[in-house]
Amino acid sequence: MLYCRATGPTRWDHLHPVSRGGDTVPGNLVPACGRCDDSKQDREVEEWVRSTSPLRPQKNELPRIRREVKEYRKKFNYIPREFKSKLSKEQMNIYQGFQRELQKLRTHLQLVGLLK
Ligand SMILES: [Zn+2]
Repeated sequence: MLYCRATGPTRWDHLHPVSRGGDTVPGNLVPACGRCDDSKQDREVEEWVRSTSPLRPQKNELPRIRREVKEYRKKFNYIPREFKSKLSKEQMNIYQGFQRELQKLRTHLQLVGLLK
């Protein structure tokens, strides 16, 4: 397995997190144990290794992980892209409109004390 030496993966982890535009396809999904999957959360491997999560991989594992990630993505011809870069111009306008509406709602909820 990519992240640790546990035997018997129990989950599929998205290398490039879904929240950042990661796809559910071979090349972005890797088998992981539950501990690693929970510990990594919605972060890139690099961020996870540099974090303070108790179950993160050791820093000396990073070169191996980087190499394996690169080979794995190449094998499936997967190039991770940020969510916003996948949007057409029209979709981007809609997305930005939603963001503005959400910001107004957030501001309103803060004003009435329902959101910090
Ligand atoms: Zn693990």
